[in-house]
Amino acid sequence: MAERLVLKHRRTTLERVEKFLPALQSRLFTDTCPLVCLSCFQTPQRIPYEDAVRHEFGPAKVGDSFGPTWQTCWFKVELSIPREWLGKEVHLLWESDGEGLVWRDAQPVQGLTKEGEKTSYILTDSLTEVEPHSLTVYVEVACNDLFGAGKGSLIAPPDPDKKFTLNQAELVVFNRDIHELLVDFEILVGMAKHLGEENQRSFQALYVANQMVNLLDVTDSSTFPAVRQLASSIFSQKNGESQHMIHAMGHCHIDTAWLWPYEESIRKCARSWVTVVRLMEKNPEFTFACSQAQQLEWVRNWYPGLFAQIQDYARKGQFIPVGGTWVEMDGNLPSGESMVRQFLQGQRFFQQQFGRLCLEFWLPDTFGYSAQLPQLMHGCGIRRFLTQKLSWSLVNNFPHNTFFWEGIDGSRVLAHFPPGNSYELKGHVEEMLRTMNNNRDKGRVNHSAALFGFGDGGGGPTQKMLDRLKRMRDTDGLPRVQMSTPDKLFSVLEKKTQLCTWIGELFLELHNGTYTVQAQLKRGNRECERILHDAEVLSSFALTQKSTFQYPSIKLQHLWRLLLLNQFHDVLPGSCIQLVVEDAMRYYAEIRSVGALLLQDAIEALFGKLLPAGPETTESLLVLNTLPWERTEVVSRPGTEALALVKVPSMGYSAVNDLLTSPHPVTVTKQVDGSVTMENGVIAAHLDSMGRVTSLRLAHSGRESVLDGHCANQFVIFDDVPLYWDAWDVMDYHLETRKPITTLLTPLEIVLAGGLRGSVKFSLQISERSVITQEVVLDAMCPYLRFLTQVDWNETRRFLKVEFPCCVRSMNATYEIQFGHLERPTHWNTSWDWARFEVWSHKWMDLSEHGFGVALLNDCKYGASVHDNVMSLSLLRAPKSPDATADIGHHRFTYAVMPHRGSFQEASVIQNAYNLNFPLHAVPAVSAQCPAWSAFSVSSAAVVLETVKQAEARRDGLVVRLYESHGSTVVTWLQTSLPVKEAISCDLLERPDPSSHLLLQEHGVKLTFTPFQVRSVLLILRQ
Ligand SMILES: [Zn+2]
Repeated sequence: MAERLVLKHRRTTLERVEKFLPALQSRLFTDTCPLVCLSCFQTPQRIPYEDAVRHEFGPAKVGDSFGPTWQTCWFKVELSIPREWLGKEVHLLWESDGEGLVWRDAQPVQGLTKEGEKTSYILTDSLTEVEPHSLTVYVEVACNDLFGAGKGSLIAPPDPDKKFTLNQAELVVFNRDIHELLVDFEILVGMAKHLGEENQRSFQALYVANQMVNLLDVTDSSTFPAVRQLASSIFSQKNGESQHMIHAMGHCHIDTAWLWPYEESIRKCARSWVTVVRLMEKNPEFTFACSQAQQLEWVRNWYPGLFAQIQDYARKGQFIPVGGTWVEMDGNLPSGESMVRQFLQGQRFFQQQFGRLCLEFWLPDTFGYSAQLPQLMHGCGIRRFLTQKLSWSLVNNFPHNTFFWEGIDGSRVLAHFPPGNSYELKGHVEEMLRTMNNNRDKGRVNHSAALFGFGDGGGGPTQKMLDRLKRMRDTDGLPRVQMSTPDKLFSVLEKKTQLCTWIGELFLELHNGTYTVQAQLKRGNRECERILHDAEVLSSFALTQKSTFQYPSIKLQHLWRLLLLNQFHDVLPGSCIQLVVEDAMRYYAEIRSVGALLLQDAIEALFGKLLPAGPETTESLLVLNTLPWERTEVVSRPGTEALALVKVPSMGYSAVNDLLTSPHPVTVTKQVDGSVTMENGVIAAHLDSMGRVTSLRLAHSGRESVLDGHCANQFVIFDDVPLYWDAWDVMDYHLETRKPITTLLTPLEIVLAGGLRGSVKFSLQISERSVITQEVVLDAMCPYLRFLTQVDWNETRRFLKVEFPCCVRSMNATYEIQFGHLERPTHWNTSWDWARFEVWSHKWMDLSEHGFGVALLNDCKYGASVHDNVMSLSLLRAPKSPDATADIGHHRFTYAVMPHRGSFQEASVIQNAYNLNFPLHAVPAVSAQCPAWSAFSVSSAAVVLETVKQAEARRDGLVVRLYESHGSTVVTWLQTSLPVKEAISCDLLERPDPSSHLLLQEHGVKLTFTPFQVRSVLLILRQ
């Protein structure tokens, strides 16, 4: 009979096809069979398989609930496949809440997560006579969802009482033909819907899908081939040569800790990656990019069998380690040296375990990217960068997807932002079209990356995603989609000659609250960066001064890895749950305690008999300076209140017996109105009875810093209620709620009357539940006024800052970043300017006009802003999600204000910020018979010698790292008293540049720097 043609109405035809699909779906499993036996036990611990299988299992059945949150339920699954199923594809169907992992023969074999669309474990592709039909497997179910256990919403604090239910557990015969038909339909419907009414291909796809419904009898498999043939007639119609090319790569973003603790991430890695390995067995073309050395190291330790399989697929080029870093760290807050160590630890791991360095820096989900990163990448063997997070910017659309990114020193890397604006695509038509259409470099670049696979909580790709992508390899009207690799993509992009360049930071216009929230994590980070710096410097000294000293390289590596782990992009930024904060604080505590022991070991090795045997008090003092310039400062004698003014050479020590006296002692004078004047011959401050600085002058010129009629050190509080991402965001409208804190609790009183140190104290009431206590300290000869601050903080969604309105006019303020600084505007002229109403900074920020300026220094704060002439330091926030207890409690931090003549470079603001952060070490000595000693000094004030450490690869070598901090081209001498026999330039991975042997002369080695250049030198020691 001739086919009867009807005029097809677009909407009804589409609806007809879509409504047909459930009937097809219901035929996916043609037969089922119950399990022979199911039993289980529960444990609060995450235990190894070997322990679990020895446990006693009690009866269990489908429909049972288990939990609560964070428990683990181990199921023993005894099954027997019916003989009638010979030749059939048989799955264990497992649908439960929580995240599951199937174990078979003592090995993990399949991750099961309902939310990640993984509910079956393939027992056999085609059941044979010879394979075992009866077997026992185990399913380890974690009582948390893919995204933790938020109560009521994703980012709400976890519900501790959540219950988890086993909904389905049985054997099924899987009908692969039905699965393929479903994917065919899905792609055709996707084309029909998303290509749009004006597109010819949209109708072709729709009419073919309609015809498939006409021909298909779901009960009769003999109708399937013709129907599939129809679908492939569409898929096989090819594009022209000019079509956009999508480089699809499997990916599985696993937050190293976020809405779940670190320990759960270890299991997330196993669940996700074993699933990837299963997919690789069946899909030889499937590629998967995997970042974060720490996660791979976890799997190496906890699941060695799986790790061996991963190494195998890495050799085949399917499992592709990327990123080069230890974790996907925050891109703003870690110090320059921390970022170097992220790469150093990461790249060394990838080299050792996979035989190659990563060529791409991979940081898809981080809240902004420092303008120093391009240079650091270069130094670590990386010229390529991938992220997509800037698509989250609230105000401005970033103008490129493929471009050169140039850092503050001029280093350039090739950057690619996958235009699909996601690192967890599912392989849908709409996503591929979005990837093509969103490309903002059309005409310049015709290639894009598409990262597919469930992410954030892990999960990764599915077979269905792969099957979708296969149909879009080259289908007229759709972008071409090929399975690719980061290397293939970037190799193509590198050949493009018309790319634009973006210079400076990649600032995310969202999540700006992460610079401030969870203040104790920020403090831990800054403090531990300092501890590891000092431990390395002093251990290096000890190594060169005492032949029997063992450099603690293994302990230091362990501590560094803990610090680097805590720099993960949901931990240090403070966007994690309370459990994670507790873990992170434990790691900081370990760094503090072990770090203190390492410092003590180094000091004992250096001074031996000069140190007192017991805790007796001594007259003499040894003072150590880990910074590369001479310092004259007031220190406290250990264990006493007594002060001493000491002078210590650059990166060295001196013994102090006869104390220095200051040419100009500090004076503190109280006025009748309760205000106080503090002076030290360098600066003079006047504080009112509320501790506000009403005047701050340079002593020699009388130049005033505080804006007339205003008060500096003014605490202000804001309502801080973001729209959704509570811990992450501070919105621009919070600025409209500014309230100065003016409730005096204890008026200003003098604590130290002057001499070497003067100080005053006061306290303010923030609210009925929160109090600030501050001691304002001025030391002899010190160019800055310190504010030792303690806050008892018990607020809800409020933001505490301190303001310094300055008598300075400038269009830009300067902020310290990693190994350098950058300027940001103080005005809100354009949308790009006002989107930066809250920015980040490291140890200092500065507002200068010609000849004069004011710097704000801090010892553990990162959030900042300068608008007009008001400098603000962000102090504390109080979000309630995902950690309802965030920041509640007692806080201690110090900031300082430093007015200065000339530029901040001329005034040594950078050095003073280091001094505030790296206090001198004073240790009691039985004798001062010890000459002053300096290991290193640098002749140019522009160059900072930041790091001294033992070389990773050779015990007779030290690596020193220096950077140009002023933004100038300089030649400098690095002088050393250490027994150096050879000096070779090396990169950040400590690979010596054989062509760059440096000439050792009487003064040391001569080094040339361009603005913000970071240089490393390998010093080989005489034995
Ligand atoms: Zn993430």
